[in-house]
Amino acid sequence: MLVVMKAQATEEEIQAVCDHIVQLGFRPHPLPGAQRTAIGITGNQGEVNRGNLESLSGVAEVIRVSKAYKLASRDVKEEDTVVRFAGSDAAIGGRNLAVIAGPCSIESREQAFAIAGQVAAAGAQFFRGGAYKPRTSPYAFQGLGLEALKIMAEVRERFGLRIVTEALDTETLDLVAEWADVIQIGARNMQNFTLLRKAGLLRKPVLIKRGLSATLEEFLMAAEYVMSEGNYEVILCERGVRTFADHARNTLDLSIVPALRHASHLPILVDPSHGTGRRDCVLPMARAAVAAGADGIMVEVHDHPENAFSDGPQSIYPAQFATMMHEIEQIAPIVARTLARRVTAPVAAGAGGK
Ligand code: PEP
Ligand code: MN
Repeated sequence: MLVVMKAQATEEEIQAVCDHIVQLGFRPHPLPGAQRTAIGITGNQGEVNRGNLESLSGVAEVIRVSKAYKLASRDVKEEDTVVRFAGSDAAIGGRNLAVIAGPCSIESREQAFAIAGQVAAAGAQFFRGGAYKPRTSPYAFQGLGLEALKIMAEVRERFGLRIVTEALDTETLDLVAEWADVIQIGARNMQNFTLLRKAGLLRKPVLIKRGLSATLEEFLMAAEYVMSEGNYEVILCERGVRTFADHARNTLDLSIVPALRHASHLPILVDPSHGTGRRDCVLPMARAAVAAGADGIMVEVHDHPENAFSDGPQSIYPAQFATMMHEIEQIAPIVARTLARRVTAPVAAGAGGK
């Protein structure tokens, strides 16, 4: 159920409706919009008695939301959600494209700084890097853990980049949340409901990657888990799904971008690195993702991909990243977007290039 407040409803009226919902034994989720506030109701099994709600002061109407996902649905919030970061002009969602770039894994301070310097110089606003890695093999590099989180905090200090990193489990979630600006929940954890719920208790943006075989509804239900706990800053990321195609690691499903846009108000990113697994496919698919209407790109960049501890074959060189930025900057206006480059202090040219 959704309570739509009148445009001129006061804070007190909104609060009174929320209190009433709590008294009924349900949970209110006030979602302010440009025109009016809507209050989502969760926790009800059947219909909520709308008569009482409709008679409350400031209420315009009470609507039944028929979709399985409610808070993530566009029925509940018409305008696109924009995730903002205090003390910075970086944002995910909205008119400006967000670019998250960095290595698959943080391997050392030197490696992280060399790559961060180059992606910052090319205009990225967000730095990615795995501290805790979900690896298919238990014998593969599992990440530097806390040491990597500390390195990324230094990267934030030095380059002004916001940090995106994955929380692999409920045990390390709080630690990751302490150090990161955006908490990533990986494809393999998209239906780890305990982890999603716990991330919902945080007040930090959560980036959810689409599961390897997740439908649109399953994807949005993962977002719903986080939002149902009161954390509305959720970002969706398409990263390819498993199909019979064997020319690429995954099949990047760009058609989900407009489909998600229609169904949900949440920001949508595309990861062409995991989406293809091939360096030569990353730039073309990044261009296509922007053309398809994505709110931004998450991409793996490495200055020595041949020596990378993980995902070297899909990591682009810093020079290619700069080209990608230039290309998507040109596509952006065609789809009514911009690519605001960060202005960073000059960084000494590091290794890499191609
Ligand atoms: C990653 O971003 O490095 C990662 C492991 O992604 P995914 O969960 O999409 O495989
Ligand atoms: Mn990776």
